[in-house]
Amino acid sequence: MAMALGEFDLIRRYFSHATPPHPGTLLGIGDDCALLNCGDEALAITVDTLVSGIHFLPEVDAMTLGHKALAVNLSDLAAMGAQPCWCTLALTLPESDEDWLSAFTRGFSALANRYGVQLIGGDTTRGPLSITVQAMGRVAPDRALRRSGSNAGDLLYVSGPLGSAGLGLLQRLGQTLTRDELSLKALDCPEPRIELGLQLLGLATACIDISDGLSADLGHLLAASHLGATLEYEQLPLSTAVRQYGALTGDIGLPLRAGDDYELCFSVPPQKRDETDALLLRLGLNGACIGQTEAQPGLRIVRNGHPITLQSHGYEHFTPSPTPDQGR
Ligand code: ADP
Ligand code: MG
Repeated sequence: MAMALGEFDLIRRYFSHATPPHPGTLLGIGDDCALLNCGDEALAITVDTLVSGIHFLPEVDAMTLGHKALAVNLSDLAAMGAQPCWCTLALTLPESDEDWLSAFTRGFSALANRYGVQLIGGDTTRGPLSITVQAMGRVAPDRALRRSGSNAGDLLYVSGPLGSAGLGLLQRLGQTLTRDELSLKALDCPEPRIELGLQLLGLATACIDISDGLSADLGHLLAASHLGATLEYEQLPLSTAVRQYGALTGDIGLPLRAGDDYELCFSVPPQKRDETDALLLRLGLNGACIGQTEAQPGLRIVRNGHPITLQSHGYEHFTPSPTPDQGR
């Protein structure tokens, strides 16, 4: 019997070459957004679906969902350094519950207002709850951040703490004794790093947002750049709760494996360290330099001077996962 295809093999095999190339495509399948030629500018475009029971627990409140459905898409725009402009919303609802709809819209609109994003269309159907948002933004085509631009010796950064959303999910599932409001907030209310993405234009050599876990998403950046890297575990920015959780349970892989944090992971040339540190400080982000890219392929993680290995490398749909990490 044939092995079930993983999410990324499935996309590669069935969709990457399913259609003819269009001359207006600057960047197609394989990055956080596609880039389309619009004169002097590129249109950055992305779409993500949230499915009840997979991307959120059925009991989660509607306002939270409204925020998150847009946030995860704006995060993909941030990863390209694009300025958000428009979105569409395809909603599948089991019933037309006005309390639910008004709360959902409140969460959605509040975030859209902050970034000046207009809802310009969509689709509404009846069925099991599922939310699809498409987001569009503008970016200078030759400056857009891609996954593929990193050079060996670049410094690797993340824009903020990792594993917090993962710990929030473990709490919701009753799988940890930890009680931490900040972790729940990280899970429910991720903040797209739009301002950082814009400021990284001309500074970062490559960028991706962390939706599926650092090791998985950094793996995509490295693969696209034909590089490897070494990370220093001690440099990972971790919340107090995630640090304590690791110390108590021994599960130190959570911040490397767990998805849904929506921080950016990016590389900068080594001489840009001070500029990058100053930028993070100016934006009030608790990001950090976590390692360096190398010509040797693969991801190596060092802790207390010793290499460590990971059980799972992050969330992939259609691949059985031993832990309840989330991802898209
Ligand atoms: P992200 O985590 O940034 O949303 P994904 O991991 O979901 O990106 O997808 C990886 C790449 O594959 C993206 O460029 C995405 O647009 C593309 N992709 C995913 N699913 C499909 C599909 N069914 N058809 C075509 N392209 C797809
Ligand atoms: Mg992404």
